Amino acid sequence: MDLLEYQARELFESFGVPVLPGVVATTPDGAREAFGQLDSDVAVVKAQVRVGGRGKAGGVKLVHSADEAESTASEILDLVIKDLPVDTVMLSPGAEIEAEYYFSILLDRTAGTYLAMCSVEGGIDIETLAVERPEALVKIELDPVQGITADVAREIVEQAGFEEGDRNGVAEVLQKLWTVFRDSDATLVEVNPLVKVASGDIVALDAKITLDENAEFRHDSWDNYHDTSAAVDLERQARELDLNYVKLDGNVGVIGNGAGLVMSTLDVVERAGKDLPGQPKPANFLDIGGGASSTVMANGLRIIMSDPQVRAVLVNVFGGITACSDVAQGIVSALKVLGDEAKQPIVVRLDGNSVDVGKAILTEAEHPLIQVESTMDGAAAAVAKLASERS
Ligand code: GDP
Ligand code: MN
Repeated sequence: MDLLEYQARELFESFGVPVLPGVVATTPDGAREAFGQLDSDVAVVKAQVRVGGRGKAGGVKLVHSADEAESTASEILDLVIKDLPVDTVMLSPGAEIEAEYYFSILLDRTAGTYLAMCSVEGGIDIETLAVERPEALVKIELDPVQGITADVAREIVEQAGFEEGDRNGVAEVLQKLWTVFRDSDATLVEVNPLVKVASGDIVALDAKITLDENAEFRHDSWDNYHDTSAAVDLERQARELDLNYVKLDGNVGVIGNGAGLVMSTLDVVERAGKDLPGQPKPANFLDIGGGASSTVMANGLRIIMSDPQVRAVLVNVFGGITACSDVAQGIVSALKVLGDEAKQPIVVRLDGNSVDVGKAILTEAEHPLIQVESTMDGAAAAVAKLASERS
């Protein structure tokens, strides 16, 4: 789970990591007020989106008056950065930057260890630095129990090539960043840039934190951190219902039983939609599993139908342990519960255990949204056509 910069900044602050004041605003007017609150001649207005490279995308701008704060915030709040609409900005006093450094702690899954990365050349795109001048980026494996002690911090700043006069100040901040990483159950803490300001102080000017969702049970405060954007929210709701759901980009909702069947259903839908207007594609992966009950089917349909991108739904079930009659019953009762919320047509293909009873249940229901097909290819063609017509 990724935090927004202002949330990460607050966490930093609570652990004693030096940061600049930050005031959040969601309107141009709020930004004008925030500028006043900061009591500084210069401020920086920063887009709060869960993605890097905001600066390059025009999402980080210096302003010199309340008027300018308002107009600049208005521009930034209209931006969409890497597909993410900006709905919040943070204002901070403008820093007089003497030098920009890079520092991060991350879980290196390949190496099976924690890793600290540090460079005296920060502020820029770190991926580029890592490729073009790898020697400028120091990587040090961390012992998960001892983390960044004074000695380890010393080793990092020496290897990274900080000047003698800056080493103590930076080392102290690195130790604090380790406590943020450890005590917050993070998998990433990245500061780019970590800066030296005119006074010589070391300050974290940007803050990126990824938290390990497996540790959520022991952090009540994390409730505030959830990304409420539509796609992430759907995945979250699905997880709470124990559904095996992954959001995809298309407009055909897909439900099946068994990961293999669902994967091949995605392929078949994609192929069926390829030459149709609007090129309908799968909107999700959803495996309702082997012993799927009608409740599971109802939950799955509800999640899929609440995805605003979905134009039509395909239910593809091969009854093994699951009886097709249960699946059919699940579809019918789900539609009853959903009522007017169910707007998209549902193409159903059932085969295997109790298929005849299942089909009979669907026929008897005479629901206007349900269309039964008897082959997987036929069902894929039908649902792709519906999605294409309705997009
Ligand atoms: P990112 O582009 O998403 O990584 O956003 P950052 O917060 O890292 O900001 C991008 C760049 O803007 C930084 O590397 C700095 O060079 C610059 N910047 C950010 N805040 C300030 C500031 O207070 N004063 C000055 N002069 N530059 C800033
Ligand atoms: Mn940055």
